[in-house]
Amino acid sequence: MKQLTCSKCGNRVFFENLSCETCGSTLGYAPDEQLMFAFEPADDEAWRRQGPPGLDYKPCVNRKRGVCNWMLPSASSHRHCLSCRTTHTIPELAKPENHGYWAALEQAKRRLFYTLVELVLPTPNKLEDPANGSHPWEDWAETWAHYLHMVDGLETAAAWGAHLDQALPSGPSLKVRALDLNAESIRDAVIEQWLPVSQFINAMDRSLGAHDSYPFIVVEPVIEKLDFIHRVVRAGSSGSVAMNFLPRDRARGAESSLDSSAGHEEADRP
Ligand SMILES: [Zn+2]
Ligand SMILES: [Zn+2]
Repeated sequence: MKQLTCSKCGNRVFFENLSCETCGSTLGYAPDEQLMFAFEPADDEAWRRQGPPGLDYKPCVNRKRGVCNWMLPSASSHRHCLSCRTTHTIPELAKPENHGYWAALEQAKRRLFYTLVELVLPTPNKLEDPANGSHPWEDWAETWAHYLHMVDGLETAAAWGAHLDQALPSGPSLKVRALDLNAESIRDAVIEQWLPVSQFINAMDRSLGAHDSYPFIVVEPVIEKLDFIHRVVRAGSSGSVAMNFLPRDRARGAESSLDSSAGHEEADRP
C-alpha cells in the first residue's frame, strides 16, 4: 500500500484512520483518487474538503457505525462506498461482540478493494453477480489471494523505502520496488524481490513472538501460477479481455438497481 498523508497538515496517516493524530482533522479515504483527505464534517453529508480543492465527497453511510472511513462522490446515488456496497448480510448487531467482527470484515475487504482498484480490475459482488461473486475454484482463488498479497506487500515495502542489505546471505543489497504491473512476467520479481521481503517479514514475526504472516513455500509451480494470474490481470486491466464477470444481458442496469435491492437493505438495518 502507498504511504498516505493528511491533506491538511501533510503528516503520515494510515489507511484505517478516521482522524489525523497530528492536526485532529476528520479523515476520509477516496478510493477513486487513492488519497486520504481531511474534511470538515457536516450534518447534510456535504462534507467540506480541507487542503487543495477537488472533487466533492460524502461519507459512506457505515461511517456512522464506526466501521468505514471511505468516501463517495457527493453526486453518487449510492449511500454505501464501493466496498461496503458489496456486503450482503451483516451479523446481528444486538450482540455487542458482532460489531467488532463486522468492523474487522469490512476493514479486510477495503484492503482487497484497494488492490483491485489499483490493478484496474472490476469489483464484482454477489448482489450484481450471484454466480461468480463466490469462488468456485479454491486453487484459483488462493492464487489470486497470494498474488494480491504480493502486489500490496511489495508496494508497502517500496513506499517505505525498504532496502535489504542482506537480501541473500552474501549477495548484493536489494532496494525494494513495487511490482511492475505492466511487466510481461513477474517471475524475476517474485524470486529477487518478493522472496527476500517475505522472508524478512517472517523473521520479524518470529522475533516478535508472532506466527509467520507469510506461511508459504514458493516453489516453481507456485511461481508459474502467480505469473499466470499476472497475465490475466494485465489482460483484464488493459481491456484486451472482458473482465466484468457479469452476463452481458445483466450488465446494464445492475449499477442503478443496487441501492434498492432487498439484500442491501439488510445491511442498512441496525
Ligand atoms: Zn493532519
Ligand atoms: Zn463504506
